[in-house]
Amino acid sequence: MSDSAVLRARLRNALMAERAFGVEALPIDPAILRKPRSQPKPRPPTPAATPTPAAAPAKPAPRAKPVAPATDLFGNPVKASTSAAETTYTPFTDPPLPRQKRIELLVKLDDDEVRGCTKCALSENRTHTVFGEGDPEANLMFVGEGPGENEDLSGRPFVGRAGQKLDEMIKAMGFGRADVYIANVVKCRPPGNRTPVAGEIAACTPYLHRQLELIRPKVIVTLGLPATKHILGVQQSMGKLRGRWHTFRGIDVMPTYHPAYLLRSYTPANRRAVWEDLQQVVERLGKSG
Ligand code: URA
Ligand code: SF4
Repeated sequence: MSDSAVLRARLRNALMAERAFGVEALPIDPAILRKPRSQPKPRPPTPAATPTPAAAPAKPAPRAKPVAPATDLFGNPVKASTSAAETTYTPFTDPPLPRQKRIELLVKLDDDEVRGCTKCALSENRTHTVFGEGDPEANLMFVGEGPGENEDLSGRPFVGRAGQKLDEMIKAMGFGRADVYIANVVKCRPPGNRTPVAGEIAACTPYLHRQLELIRPKVIVTLGLPATKHILGVQQSMGKLRGRWHTFRGIDVMPTYHPAYLLRSYTPANRRAVWEDLQQVVERLGKSG
């Protein structure tokens, strides 16, 4: 891209950001209009990784295994020190898989394990499981808490009001929804959208862990406290955790407010906070190429 095309693209993103976060919350950093930097390359969407919203069988999955007691939610060693707001898990060591293999294994995980899963009581009230969707080679992965009503009905993550806000956030960062991967900590809707309880999270997070291992994003954005707590294994408040880099198994993690919280509490301070967090992510992805 020529420099002028880069600048035009930046300006377009800034305007998208104004739409997503509100003009008064958005002092545009003049530096972004001066200094072109490399942008991560968008990739074509992968329909194969997108679960079809077909009816999910609610019968037991024969292959689902009970979750073994573990040193942490994911069965990985955790650093003894919990004094820092960052818990570091053992980085993934296996080399990332080729695209086709990732698609195959993600589809298999969904078809063979998640769709029929009855490992926790959330299976009793769901309409559909919500596996997650997006580019299996995404550099950027968003992790939410769990499906809401619209997601339960459609089988797709973040399609309700919070999802529209997330779409705006993604666009403001210069990406499309198909360039990123979106998943949740639990794959079935908690009744009344309550926060999932520890047992439900413990039962379900091996699926998320596997998705992360297969997709191996460069950056994970955790949306809201439940997702952040369970990726990082920490107990601090969102105010303390957001806006700072953390690590999950060697992957950079940026926690930010959940779009549903942002919609509920649409203050200039919250909008600015989310936009600042996302700008840090764009910056880091630009640098990592
Ligand atoms: N909120 C979430 O955390 N996840 C969704 O998929 C939808 C709303
Ligand atoms: Fe299985 Fe997760 Fe659904 Fe519980 S929430 S039934 S563990 S898929």
